[in-house]
Amino acid sequence: MNDLISFIAIFLLLSPIVFGLFYYLIYSPVSGMFNAFSYRNGSLSIDQQTLLANRFKFYSQLDPELKSSFEKRVAFFLNNKKFIPREDIVITDEMKILLAGGAVQLTFGFHKYKMSYFNKIYLLPQSYKLSPRYPFMKGHVSNRGYIMLSWKAIQEGFANPTDGINLVLHELAHALMVSAIEEGENIDFAVDYHVWEEWVKEEMNEQREHTNEKHFFRNYAYTNGNEFFAVAVENFFERPLEFSQSLPQLYLQLTNLLRLDPLNASNPVLIDTVMSSPPMGNDALKPEELFSMIFASPLSFICFVIGALTGTYGTIILFEAFASDTPNAISLVYATLLFSASLFFFVQVFVKVRKK
Ligand SMILES: [Zn+2]
Repeated sequence: MNDLISFIAIFLLLSPIVFGLFYYLIYSPVSGMFNAFSYRNGSLSIDQQTLLANRFKFYSQLDPELKSSFEKRVAFFLNNKKFIPREDIVITDEMKILLAGGAVQLTFGFHKYKMSYFNKIYLLPQSYKLSPRYPFMKGHVSNRGYIMLSWKAIQEGFANPTDGINLVLHELAHALMVSAIEEGENIDFAVDYHVWEEWVKEEMNEQREHTNEKHFFRNYAYTNGNEFFAVAVENFFERPLEFSQSLPQLYLQLTNLLRLDPLNASNPVLIDTVMSSPPMGNDALKPEELFSMIFASPLSFICFVIGALTGTYGTIILFEAFASDTPNAISLVYATLLFSASLFFFVQVFVKVRKK
């Protein structure tokens, strides 16, 4: 009985330490190296670059150095996201580039741009229904880690690049909120978002007082805070000048939030060093982000607990083995097995569990 109590005490004490050590000493450096390798070797074909340049004014106006960073991020996105056809659609390079370009543009001001939570993108030819009772949808972001979009609606969004309507940017803005705030991938963004929300409230109140006047954003923006952000993002990239003139304070807040100013076309990135560094090192999770990963889903929490249990038990066995005068081989093997199991379950917290 006493043994059990002392084990639980040691477990509670050790498990966060074991998990933290695992993350910062093993997982983060290894995945960072892999990412850096993949980032450095990422390149786009001439055709892909042309597609980007034709569809993304944001990209085509960048300084050469930033342009090259943009391409590397796009390549990284293409290599790390799965594009899955639904109904009778054939996935083309153009589809992938529009999605990847949109994502990279939106997150160009961040170190943490990968939106790892979303690794699957489903494409359908037309609008779709999730169930017969639902209305038709052009796109949506699922809390189960995927994005679904109608190709027709994507094309409509890009057909007019200055009307402030773009499905890809809209849905990716939702995806950014989920991955950064709900899934805890970008705490800095989450903190800044609270500031932004205050400004949004003000603008929404204003709108309520003047319901008959025409507003800069389309009415859909005033549905709720999430939609307001998504519509603001569309306008931010498609008509930044008009946005900054109509709603200067809000525009300024959005430049702070996204760390970008599209009006400064050749160098829109507000915080330097962002582009010069590859993903490695800079996108290690902060402790509070690590914490929210653990609680991202019941399964990720269970994996954490099993990983921590086996890790703690392995540590105890190792200590006992070395505390005795003659450490025996069997306990060393036992500890190794326990550490391997711990490693396996800890990795699940970041990988499989979250990519449902
Ligand atoms: Zn929306």
